[in-house]
Amino acid sequence: MADIIEGKTLSQSILADVAARAAAAAAALGRKPSLAIINYYEDSPSAVYVKRKLSACAKAGIETHLIMPEESKGRDHFFGLLRELGADNAVDAIMVERPLPKGFDAPEAWELLDPAKDPDALSTLNMGRLFLAKTWKEIAEGGFFVPCTALAVVKIMKHAGIDPAGKEIAVVGRSAIVGRPAAHMLTCLDATVTLCHSRTRDINAVLKRAEIIVTAIGKALWLKPDMIGPGATVIDVGTNLGPDGKMCGDADSAALAGTAGRITPVPGGVGPVTLACLLEAAVTAAERRAREIK
Ligand code: NAP
Repeated sequence: MADIIEGKTLSQSILADVAARAAAAAAALGRKPSLAIINYYEDSPSAVYVKRKLSACAKAGIETHLIMPEESKGRDHFFGLLRELGADNAVDAIMVERPLPKGFDAPEAWELLDPAKDPDALSTLNMGRLFLAKTWKEIAEGGFFVPCTALAVVKIMKHAGIDPAGKEIAVVGRSAIVGRPAAHMLTCLDATVTLCHSRTRDINAVLKRAEIIVTAIGKALWLKPDMIGPGATVIDVGTNLGPDGKMCGDADSAALAGTAGRITPVPGGVGPVTLACLLEAAVTAAERRAREIK
């Protein structure tokens, strides 16, 4: 049976540290650290994650401002919001939830997002700094923000005692916020990474030889036992609704149990660690602001 790499213990330890740091930042700022969340769609899957963020922030002593703009106000209104929140001294961090209305998810928006208030590294500056780094040391010590989900992938591996150095890793999914940054971070950790996507020819051959598979495609129960090599580690980033209406990953974990060596569950794997990484980055932004106003 595959070992389960759960994310709860790690996320709880990150969140305990976040709460202590939030209290210290509050004392220095004269107010709680604050995170603004822009979410366009109340009925999208992101609404569930927004609720979790609000609740986790309340527990950790981070104030939240949930902004739900009307799509009909248009792209310029969104751009204006990013400018306003960037200039607002009472806001330390800004999270923009996807999906966004058509045409809003554009480089012009990510140029406007203040990099100092960008805990999920959506801004072009943070993203650019990440991709300029060649080593993990440059990432860890660079002082810029990185995409939380990709960071959670690295943290959950390290927590499970997995050293990516020298390993053959297949990352499936090439989105700007998950697949590509995860592949880059793992490359900086000296893994040999193959980045797969929907046009990858003979993806099963790539997956079969991978010692570690990171899957982030958003397709329920897609990864099956005949696609992986025996003993492979599966890090499942996907969060999907399964045929039974319950949340599930990209990996068919029940079927993979006899083939995979280790697997992260969904829910309870990468997700909680991603959330903890977001709060950690929001507090980092607040701490930096507190140092600036001293
Ligand atoms: P996305 O932007 O939709 O990207 C999906 C990627 O998967 C694309 O690169 C696509 O390839 C690739 N893909 C789709 N079907 C494929 C197939 N059959 N074989 C190989 N590649 C395939 O998704 P995302 O935003 O990265 O999110 C991916 C998943 O992670 C979703 O389930 C999302 O909910 C989840 N997620 C979880 C967390 C967390 O904290 N756990 C955080 C963020 C996202 P092409 O580029 O060729 O189209």
